[in-house]
Amino acid sequence: MILKNCRIYLNNNFVSGEIKIEDGKIKRIAKIINEDDKKVDLKNNLVVPGVIDAHVHLRWRSKKEGFKSGSLAGINGGVCFVIDMPNDSPPITNKNLFYKKLDDAKKEKLNIYLNYGVTEKNYKENVEDAKAYKIFMVKSVGELYINDYTLLKDILSLNKFYCVHAEHKDIINENLKKYSYNSWLSHCLIRDNRAEYEAVKEIIKNLTNAKVHFCHISTKESINILKDAKKNFKITVEVTPHHLYLTKDKAEMLKGFGKVNPPLRDKEDIISLINGINNGVVDIIASDHAPHLIEEKLKDVNECPSGIPGLETLVPLTINLANKNLISLEKAISLISLNPAKIFNIDNEIKEGNVANLTVIDIKKEGKINPELFESRAKFSPFEGLEVKGFPVYTVVNGELFEAYGCKI
Ligand SMILES: [Zn+2]
Repeated sequence: MILKNCRIYLNNNFVSGEIKIEDGKIKRIAKIINEDDKKVDLKNNLVVPGVIDAHVHLRWRSKKEGFKSGSLAGINGGVCFVIDMPNDSPPITNKNLFYKKLDDAKKEKLNIYLNYGVTEKNYKENVEDAKAYKIFMVKSVGELYINDYTLLKDILSLNKFYCVHAEHKDIINENLKKYSYNSWLSHCLIRDNRAEYEAVKEIIKNLTNAKVHFCHISTKESINILKDAKKNFKITVEVTPHHLYLTKDKAEMLKGFGKVNPPLRDKEDIISLINGINNGVVDIIASDHAPHLIEEKLKDVNECPSGIPGLETLVPLTINLANKNLISLEKAISLISLNPAKIFNIDNEIKEGNVANLTVIDIKKEGKINPELFESRAKFSPFEGLEVKGFPVYTVVNGELFEAYGCKI
């Protein structure tokens, strides 16, 4: 197969050219390739190294999503690689279960990597095939969280790479006494800015040898601390599209579709996250794809699970930021492709001989976010109806070409 008329993002430059793919690999990259082969006209659309969504919950073995539809959702969203989190039921906190899950992950078209869950008992274990170890500082599933923060010193002295969900359990518990949990806004108030930045501080205070990736950072206070901490420690920072677009004054309107952890914040926080992207404090955008059943998301605040689907909106919402001139196009590509590749050691480089994982983006395409077009089983989104510019049109995963979301609108 030869991809004709590509605008390829190569070595931080946009170059026109063509890509020949054979046996799953990039065989040739050249200005023009005149060979006898199947041709696909990419109409001068942008070709970037395969997008990586470094934070998803595909809910292996669950009727919520599972790897089948999760894989299709990723491909539809222009995503070539995902890193799946261990808070499954049961949680992935022993090697036996981890390797069973990994076997299933490998059966799918999408490249699915896994994180391993850290508990107070298992934190010394080494799991070679884990992309990273995930620390929850608040209760998630079963014993998959660190309740005793005095253990953090020991955990963070190990030469390991951790992804951290930073919300401080004590602050949340304090707030639970202050506010009754009876409105969508109360969810935001209970898990307030302080809960996040105190947790971030707790990690930094105890950090020695480990490498830490802070998941879904959402507050201006955290960005400020992390700006300094990045000078002294091996730290990387992730933000999500929902924390870049939505604020807590919409909480009552969005109801369950706006219930996420960490919760929605304020306009100043969004400004700080965008500044953090532009000044290099923020390294990546990931979706935190949480495909709950719609009937669960329609429940009352007490029973509604936190999290929203995001695999199919990650690319459009990120490219849209560039189209709105909030960030550069180069920055957008770094956030969802180049930087996660570096941080999580994933080779998505567009280079002869490499496995062909590519995302083709029509950066001018305009359309509305429409959850009916999702391949995820979670066909809802707080972004439904939002006008966005920039959609993925094709996804090449391990050499195979698929039409993506942008082709359907
Ligand atoms: Zn998550």
